[in-house]
Amino acid sequence: MQDKHKVTIAGAGPVGALIGVMLAKKGHQVDLFESRPDSRQTNIYQGKSINLALSDRGWLALQAVGLDSKVREAAIPMYCRIMHDEQGKLTKQPYGKDGQAIWSVSRSGINEQLISMAEQEANCHVHFEHHLQSVDFSSAECEFRHHEDVVNHSADIVIGADGAFSKVRRLAQELPRKRTSYSMEYMPTSYMEMSFPAAPDGSHTMEKNALHIWPRKNFMLIALPNPDGSFTGTLFMDHEGELSFAALNTEEKVSKFFTRYFADALELMEDPVAGFLKKSPSPLCLVHIYPWLFNDKVALIGDAAHAMVPFYGQGMNCGFEDCRILNELEAQHDNWADVLNAYQLARKENGDAIIELAKRNFKEMSELSADPSFLLRKKIEAEFHNRHPDLWIPLYSMVTFSPQIPYATALKVGDMQKRIMDEIMAIENIEQNWQQAFVYDKLYELAKTTLTEQS
Ligand code: FAD
Repeated sequence: MQDKHKVTIAGAGPVGALIGVMLAKKGHQVDLFESRPDSRQTNIYQGKSINLALSDRGWLALQAVGLDSKVREAAIPMYCRIMHDEQGKLTKQPYGKDGQAIWSVSRSGINEQLISMAEQEANCHVHFEHHLQSVDFSSAECEFRHHEDVVNHSADIVIGADGAFSKVRRLAQELPRKRTSYSMEYMPTSYMEMSFPAAPDGSHTMEKNALHIWPRKNFMLIALPNPDGSFTGTLFMDHEGELSFAALNTEEKVSKFFTRYFADALELMEDPVAGFLKKSPSPLCLVHIYPWLFNDKVALIGDAAHAMVPFYGQGMNCGFEDCRILNELEAQHDNWADVLNAYQLARKENGDAIIELAKRNFKEMSELSADPSFLLRKKIEAEFHNRHPDLWIPLYSMVTFSPQIPYATALKVGDMQKRIMDEIMAIENIEQNWQQAFVYDKLYELAKTTLTEQS
């Protein structure tokens, strides 16, 4: 775009900060408004390190602003999942091949790096403790509360990057005559963070370069490594019900629960029982909305447009991909209406697809990753991928390591692959025969017919 414009971004989480950097680098006048105080000055995280898994879609977007190598310095590659069974027996499953990894990064660290980068752009201003109150969807003027003051800010476009409970989105839903479709679905599952401190010598108490999972069917614990030797664990479990956060309400019940299901983790966690009783679980929800664009002036991005459950480790990666695509479209069109319409068209079906994939992945992580038949299925797929890398890319690899494949394509192809693998797994004595040539011949025939017809 030749002409430069004023852009208001509501929310300076990872996605708002990244799109802010990108548009400022293009020469637009960017104002980023964040309701919280500056975490670089105030300890709003209270010393908690919350990490998340960054993968290829996220890396590609960071590369576009030149931040990838800096982030990589403090990131830990996780080459495999390590499953812990109830007896403490470990099973390893590589995520990809040839050193492919997902990376544990600090959520606040990456957010702060992006905000600092935004501040380095002369035409980008970050305003902390500015809480969006209202948006005029015709003029793109916004009103913010800053302590006791009301601050009005005008711009040419507004980008709502204010997360899963987005105010911009809620205001947009109330617009008359816009035919906005919207749903927010709370999952039965909630989550709670648990801390695994470093060993006294500062080393990791479990294998560092792995994502640890304690799959227990209806609930699970996971842990991702931090550079200081600690791990951040997250317990996912039903909010209410027989075995749930609500039901575990005494020291005795919690202690019994951890001893029975997570004995090997229990000895590594910091104060699990008292910590559990002190904290409240956080909810998980899915958000669908359409349109993502209002009056060609106000658009949604990141969790504000497509909040999902965290079971594919893609929420932030998808938001970063939104930024990369929007940034690329900005260069291809001459006005914001065309850019934002093209962005909505490119991203909406992919947002829906990853929401669906993430929802399905809870079962895969919590239940199937402990199931020998599921592990065998994955082994056969991995072997077939080695033999025919162009014909068969496993679904996890399409989503995580293949940014050139849109999420919507990954979902469609993944469903076809599942039907093919159901036939393979139905072969008599597949457990004994899985390395035999006839298995791969049959797989090749099925894949060739089904998958090439599709393309
Ligand atoms: P947010 O991070 O929610 O940021 C929104 C910002 O807007 C916040 O800073 C907020 O303070 C601000 N804001 C809100 N309202 C206002 C307002 N009215 N005015 C001004 N500012 C406002 N993703 C991954 O890619 N990999 C993972 O491994 C992963 N693990 C996860 C684990 C858990 C337990 C959870 C809950 C999520 C996980 N995610 C993961 C998802 C990821 O955290 C989100 O997708 C990501 O944070 C979305 O970024 P965002 O900037 O869109 O929204």
